[in-house]
Amino acid sequence: MSLTYITLATDKKMPLVGLGTWKSSPGQCIKREDIFITSKLWNTKHHPDDVEPACRKTLADLQVDYLDLYLMHWPMAFERGNIMMPINEDGSVRYADTDYKDTWKAMEKLVEKGWVKALGLSNFNARQIDDLLSTVTHRPVVNQIECHPYLNQSKLVDHCTKRSIVVTAYSPLGSSDRPWARPDDPKLLEDPRILEIAKKYGKSPAQVIIRWQLQREVVCIPKSTTPSRIKENIEVFDFILSEEDMQQIDSFDCNGRLIVPTIVRDGVRVWRDSSHPYFPFNDSY
Ligand code: NDP
Repeated sequence: MSLTYITLATDKKMPLVGLGTWKSSPGQCIKREDIFITSKLWNTKHHPDDVEPACRKTLADLQVDYLDLYLMHWPMAFERGNIMMPINEDGSVRYADTDYKDTWKAMEKLVEKGWVKALGLSNFNARQIDDLLSTVTHRPVVNQIECHPYLNQSKLVDHCTKRSIVVTAYSPLGSSDRPWARPDDPKLLEDPRILEIAKKYGKSPAQVIIRWQLQREVVCIPKSTTPSRIKENIEVFDFILSEEDMQQIDSFDCNGRLIVPTIVRDGVRVWRDSSHPYFPFNDSY
C-alpha cells in the first residue's frame, strides 16, 4: 500500500497519518500550511447559538481562515458557558439536553460560510451515527474514535466504512501518557506479541501498530513531541504486514477501552458520564 491519503466523501483528500497534539506545549507543533487542520467543538458549546462563536474562536486562536475538518467532540452536551468542565463537588458533570442533531444543523452553517471544509464526529456509536444521518444536509465524513489493537473497533469501523465515513484512530499507541494510567495497566507498546511482529519486520512496535491501522484504512493520529518518534511514526509506507500478521493483531482485541473519564460513586469506580442519555459507550459499538 503506497497511498498516503484517503479520500473523504467530499472528494477531498485527508492524510492517513496525522499528528496528535494533546499534552503538547505551545510551539512544539508544526506550521499551518504544512498540515491538514482538524479541530473539535467541545461539549459546552453544543447549543446551536454557541456553535458559530466557538468555531470563530478556534479560527482566531489558530490564526487561520478555515479548518480542513471540524468534529463534534462527543455526542453529549454539557452545561453551556465558558467553564470547560462544569463539575459538581462529587465529580459529576452538569449536563445540557441539546440534541446532537440540533448541534449538527448549526455546524452545517460553518460549511456554508466556508469556515470549515468538512464536518465529522468523534466518539459517536453506530446508532447515533445513523440517527444523525437521517437528518443531515452535509454528511459527516469522519468519526474519530479510540482505536488500537486492544480495542480494534472492527464493527464500528465496518459500520462507518459502509456509510463512507472514514475512521480516525485516537490514542492509537495506547496513550501511555494518559494522566490516569496506573502502573499495572497493560502497555501496548511493550506487548511481547507486538514486539515479536516488530522484530520480524525490522520495525518499531509503534510502526507496526500504525501500519496495521493503515492497511485496514483507518487514519492514525499518534501523539508525540519527540522529533525522532514523530519521524518514526510516519515512516510506515515502506513495508506491508502479511494477512496472517494483520489477523494476529486483530486477535489482540480485549475491549480494552482506555479513554473514559471515571468517578468514584458509592465507593465504586464507574464511568462518569454513563447516565447521560447520549453517552456513546453503553452500546457495544
Ligand atoms: P497515543 O496513543 O498517540 O500515545 C501517545 C504516547 O505515546 C506519548 O507518551 C508519546 O510520547 C508516545 N509515543 C509516540 N510515538 C511513540 C513511539 N514511536 N515510540 C514510543 N512511544 C511513542 O495517545 P493520545 O491519547 O495522545 O492519542 C493521540 C491523539 O488522539 C491525541 O493527542 C489527541 O489529539 C487525540 N485524542 C482524541 C480524543 C477524542 O475524544 N477525540 C481523545 C484522546 C485523544 P512522547 O510524546 O513523549 O514522544
